[in-house]
Order: sequence, then C-alpha cells, then structure tokens
Amino acid sequence: MEIDNLVRSNVKRLQPYSCEREDYKRQGFSLLDANENPYGGIYRRYPDPLQQELKQCLREVKGFAPERLTIGNGSDELIDLLLRTFCSPREDNIITISPTYPMYGIYAQVNEVEIRESLLDKDLMPVLEDILGRADKHTKLIFLCTPNNPTGNTIPLDTICRLASRFQGLVVVDEAYIDFTDSPSATSIQDRYPNIVVLQTLSKAWGAAGLRVGVCIADPAVTGWLNKVKAPYNLNSFAQECAKALLQEQDKVQAQVKEILRERERLLEGLRQIPDLRIMGKPEANFILVQHGRYRELYQYLLDNRVAVRLRDMPPLLPGCLRITVGKREENDKVIRLCQTFQ
Ligand code: PMP
Repeated sequence: MEIDNLVRSNVKRLQPYSCEREDYKRQGFSLLDANENPYGGIYRRYPDPLQQELKQCLREVKGFAPERLTIGNGSDELIDLLLRTFCSPREDNIITISPTYPMYGIYAQVNEVEIRESLLDKDLMPVLEDILGRADKHTKLIFLCTPNNPTGNTIPLDTICRLASRFQGLVVVDEAYIDFTDSPSATSIQDRYPNIVVLQTLSKAWGAAGLRVGVCIADPAVTGWLNKVKAPYNLNSFAQECAKALLQEQDKVQAQVKEILRERERLLEGLRQIPDLRIMGKPEANFILVQHGRYRELYQYLLDNRVAVRLRDMPPLLPGCLRITVGKREENDKVIRLCQTFQ
C-alpha cells in the first residue's frame, strides 16, 4: 500500500505555508519577518510550528521518533486533520465501530465524508469480517478506539494487526485512555503495519485537558502530509512549554493513575451492590458505563445532588446507560451513596 495514493488530490497539489524562522530564532537574528510587535511580552513571537522541543521530550519520555509525530490542539484536531488530509468530501468514506467516541462521525459530517458504522458484537468487540465487508476503494480510514469510549474495554493487538493487514487504507487507533490499562500500545506494531496511525493525548491520564495537546504517531509519510495540512501555529507557545514541563513529571502522573485505578475498583465494588444497576463492558479506562432501567431519573437525581455524569443511551447495543468518570475518593463515595438512596 502506497500512503501517498491515499492522500486527497487537492492536498497533493498543495504548496504548504512555509516558515523557516526557527533556526534564525535560535541564532538570535533580528526577527523582522513575521510582523510581530517587538515590545510585546514573552509571547510576542509565533510558536514553533513543528513543536521540535516538545517532540524531543516525547522522544525521551515515550520513545517516539520526532519524524513520526504530529502534534494537535487536542487529539480532536488530529481526527479532523486526518479526515481533511485523506478523505475527499462526497467521495470517500470512513468506518467507525459503534458505539464509540462521537467526534469521528461529527468531523466526518462536517467534512461531508460518508460514515459507515460497524456494530460491536455482544461482547463489545469489533467484528472483523463486518468491518472489512463495509470497506471499498473509497474507505480511507477505519477508526478504532481502545480502550473504547464509552464501553471501556480494549481491543486486542492481534485484532488490530489482522485488520491492518487486510485493509488498504489507514487504521486509526485512538489510545486516549491507553495509560489506564496494561494493554500494550499499537505503537509497538507500527513497524510491521505502516498503515496504523495512533492517537494519544495529554488530556486524560496526564491530567492536562485544558492544555489541548494531542499526539499522532504515524509513518513519516503520513506525518509529512499531516504537517503540511495543519494550521502552522496550531499549538500555542504556552501549551508547548507546559507540555514539556508536564512530560518531566511522569512519576507524579503514574502515581495519580494508580490512585485513579484504585478508586475505579472501589467505585465498581460500590456500584455492583446497587440493585437494578448493571456494569457494562470491562472498565479499563477512568470511567464506568452502567445501565439502569430508570437511567433518566437516576441521571436527574444525580444532577439534583450536584453530580454530573454523562447520559449514554445507545440502542440497540447499549440502551439506557450512564457513563461515570472516576473522580476523587469523596466524589466516588457520593456517587455510591446517591445510587444507594435513589428510588
Ligand atoms: N478520543 C477519545 C476516545 C476521547 O474520549 C476524547 C475526549 N473525550 C478525545 C479523543 C479527545 O481528546 P482531546 O482532549 O485530546 O481532544
């Protein structure tokens, strides 16, 4: 499979915006090339469009080679970027595995790209033959989410390998919640399957949703195209600085993840005791999906008591569900208590 053949024809013809000032900046040149105000504060200069220092930190901490990285304003931006780079409106299509994170479909709609949905099976696993049966020569991207939002379970690497080996487009593996599991990342199989694209984020386990930093790890050919299409200054200087500092705090983040996992088990234990409430899927991220016969009333009861959870009514597979994020100890206790008193 030739990655260049997957790229939209208008993108192939694109003469990208060029900006070569990073070297001049480092060498202390007078920077009279970007119409900035020289009297401005620490943020008077445009940020590095290729986020090179941040990519070096990602190499040190995660082992990702910089030439394989595209950094986005959250991984949401990267989802949109993949669609805009590879899918021609009104011509190409994507496959999503339903129920899953809604933004794949939302960005596809915005870009006028057809969405083909393959349902999870009753064990909440993707069905390979069904997915491949929906693909045709216009299917550019298959989105897999592991651990999946909102079901919480992971997809075995072996399934991802089998899909990638039989599909002629890109398999996008969204690993937003990967740091909460022991399951290996799909980055470990990318050398064998150059059509696997992995998305990760600092928004979840890394505790920095407000920074808006997402990372796409892909074959350099994919990365080259994404970097041409993205807005040059998509990641502001403050976010780049904070992300670099955060990546140095891996130990602290790992301790927080451990605490969240302990709390997840406690919350699970508490919720298992609630009559009429069913735990759905296998929670492997920092949330639990539950089903309740009177889910709307339970949702409202939680809101009335100042607890917000997410309504997730997803027929036919998962009707009447609520997704509960694992919070701090006292917050989890409150959820359990409220579920006990709900009637
Ligand atoms: N992927 C999944 C599966 C998510 O659940 C989310 C956030 N809810 C995102 C991507 C978006 O993350 P970010 O904050 O990096 O845009």
